[in-house]
Amino acid sequence: MTVDNVPVDSGVRATATPPSQSPYAVGWENSRGRKHAEPTPRWRDEFQRDRDRVIHSAAFRRLEYKTQVFVNHEGDMFRTRLTHSLEVAQIARTIARALGVNEDLTEAIALAHDLGHTPFGHAGQSVLNACMREFGGFEHNLQSLRVVELLEERYPEFRGLNLLFETREGILKHCSVPQAKLLGEVGRRFIEGGQPSLEAQIANVADEIAYNHHDMDDGLRAGLLDVEQLRTHSLFRETEQAIIVRWPHLDAKRLRYTVIRQMLNFFVSDLLTTTATHLQERGVESLAMVREQTSPMLDFSPTTLQIHLELKRLLRHHLYEHPRVVEMAFQSQTIIRELFEVYMNSADELPEPPDLSGELTHARAVCDYIAGMTDRFAISEHQRLRRSARLNRAAEEIS
Ligand code: MG
Repeated sequence: MTVDNVPVDSGVRATATPPSQSPYAVGWENSRGRKHAEPTPRWRDEFQRDRDRVIHSAAFRRLEYKTQVFVNHEGDMFRTRLTHSLEVAQIARTIARALGVNEDLTEAIALAHDLGHTPFGHAGQSVLNACMREFGGFEHNLQSLRVVELLEERYPEFRGLNLLFETREGILKHCSVPQAKLLGEVGRRFIEGGQPSLEAQIANVADEIAYNHHDMDDGLRAGLLDVEQLRTHSLFRETEQAIIVRWPHLDAKRLRYTVIRQMLNFFVSDLLTTTATHLQERGVESLAMVREQTSPMLDFSPTTLQIHLELKRLLRHHLYEHPRVVEMAFQSQTIIRELFEVYMNSADELPEPPDLSGELTHARAVCDYIAGMTDRFAISEHQRLRRSARLNRAAEEIS
């Protein structure tokens, strides 16, 4: 595949003037508000308040010690869930500003999107889901919603963070119909069809753009990817060639950063141009019209979508399925599975007995506890339980 118009910085800087708020943006006047009514904040608006609540949550702080691809203790330079979320928020804000939609709401969704992630990344999620198979399963996206609706206990008047409908809607990126039926209004679009706000769509795509690019960087740094593998990707290869023509003496590190930055710029530019065209062609003039669409407004052009998907495939093949990553995943899955068995068999190992008087089951309380752990806490808790021989006893009961 050839790539036209590989972007290389011209060196000329134009100052982008943010458009005024677009008619299809979420604003206070068209927001569905909060479950529990609260006084209007004096010094900030309601969307800033949501963003601030996410940043002050305990789940957000724990993202610092949770795996993105590399387990937290493997190196100080790799992305964690926290730095990933910050990069998503940065990309998402740029897109939101360029489209004239609500930047604070977009940022709140981006910062909250991974709050429900388990320790050890996707390996942790898949094993926790397997452990919970008979008890309703586990899905990190649903768990992010559970964190902001129930598990954060900070306010005297309500459980959770009492975030705006639009923030919660944005956090819930995907959902099965049976699950959606349990979620009330926020799950309705998965039953009836329709799209979330543009702000939610932006946070979703910014997530993919962010991890594609930072995983190339981390993968190269870790020595799991090599440049020759990336050069099989048309955009990487052509961007690198264009940069070498312009700066023939760049060292390898600056060349890598420049290629990745220019690629990121290419995807964001294409996304903005394509989305602006969609908005115009479909005559979208309100938030209600955004919601009525049968497909997302935010999209790459067909050619760029293929380039984006090729990059995802390349990363899956060479990085996420790399033997070292797979081995790390295997070890971390053992930790989570064994923790789950111990807590299921010995409730007294939980920090406090769960209140099972309502809908909460013991299995769900165990799942919430494990999902909230950081990588290093899960490892040290596993070691503690091994020392106390609890794990051996649990293992005997399983066999
Ligand atoms: Mg993410």
